[in-house]
Amino acid sequence: MSAGIKDTSTQTRTDVTAKRRRNFPSSLLFPAFIPLLLYFLYLLSSPPDFDTSMLLPRPDAPKNALIVTAHPDDEAMFFSPTILALTRNGWNVSGLCLSNGNAEGLGDQREKELYASYNLLGVPSSNVEIINDPALQDGMQRAWMPSDAGKYVYRRLDIEPFSVVIKFDKYGISGHINHRAASLACSPVNWPFLITTRKVKVWAVRTPSLLEKYMGPLPAIYHLVHTRIADTEKGREVLRLLRLDRKEGAWRKVEVINGLERWWTGIEAMREHKTQLVWFRWIWLGVGSLQWTNTLIEAW
Ligand SMILES: [Zn+2]
Repeated sequence: MSAGIKDTSTQTRTDVTAKRRRNFPSSLLFPAFIPLLLYFLYLLSSPPDFDTSMLLPRPDAPKNALIVTAHPDDEAMFFSPTILALTRNGWNVSGLCLSNGNAEGLGDQREKELYASYNLLGVPSSNVEIINDPALQDGMQRAWMPSDAGKYVYRRLDIEPFSVVIKFDKYGISGHINHRAASLACSPVNWPFLITTRKVKVWAVRTPSLLEKYMGPLPAIYHLVHTRIADTEKGREVLRLLRLDRKEGAWRKVEVINGLERWWTGIEAMREHKTQLVWFRWIWLGVGSLQWTNTLIEAW
């Protein structure tokens, strides 16, 4: 009987020791990550601003940019790193929103929300134009003819000296058909002479992969770490060996990063869209990578 008790006790001690051994690495793992997390926070606290003049069609072009979106809230959900990089670097930024987002009959309210959001991003209401055209109504079933949308882009470019247009890429980030149509509306077939005379350069916000879209600040951190490593010849050699060096493609690419302060400003801009803050948009705000970074691809 007593031998039985002894056996059980020995067994228990063995279990505890084995458990400790199993937990040993994981208990060390968390403290090991703390310096890394602090380093990432340090990187995100003040990321270097990129030279925004590289977006211009020529060095002496005026720093005037037009942001072309489809719905009120696109500017805050998808474009905030770009808009903030421009406004904080002295650019005169304007917004052209091709619908007032009236899919649920809230168009009037959403117009006010758009002005408030743009104001937070550094764009005055006088620079924001909202189109309310029967041919360009908000909805997944409401297809827009590129020419119907394109005429508003052309009209704006014709009357104001914009050097740069920022738009969705052809996938429209979320795939919404209005986003795709807004991208096509910026095609220079509507205004070829502005491109050929190098008066306007068009950049598109790249649609990230599904996984990348929901990785929060990780893509931004990756770009920041990559840039630091690529700063030295040795670092570039390591990146080449790991096949992580950036190769020049046919089109120029620019990574735009929001630091912590600008990220929060983007979140506040989105919070102005009170009619849109349903649960899944809160998830987007929490884990969306486009609140932290935009990749701009030279489109035209
Ligand atoms: Zn949209």
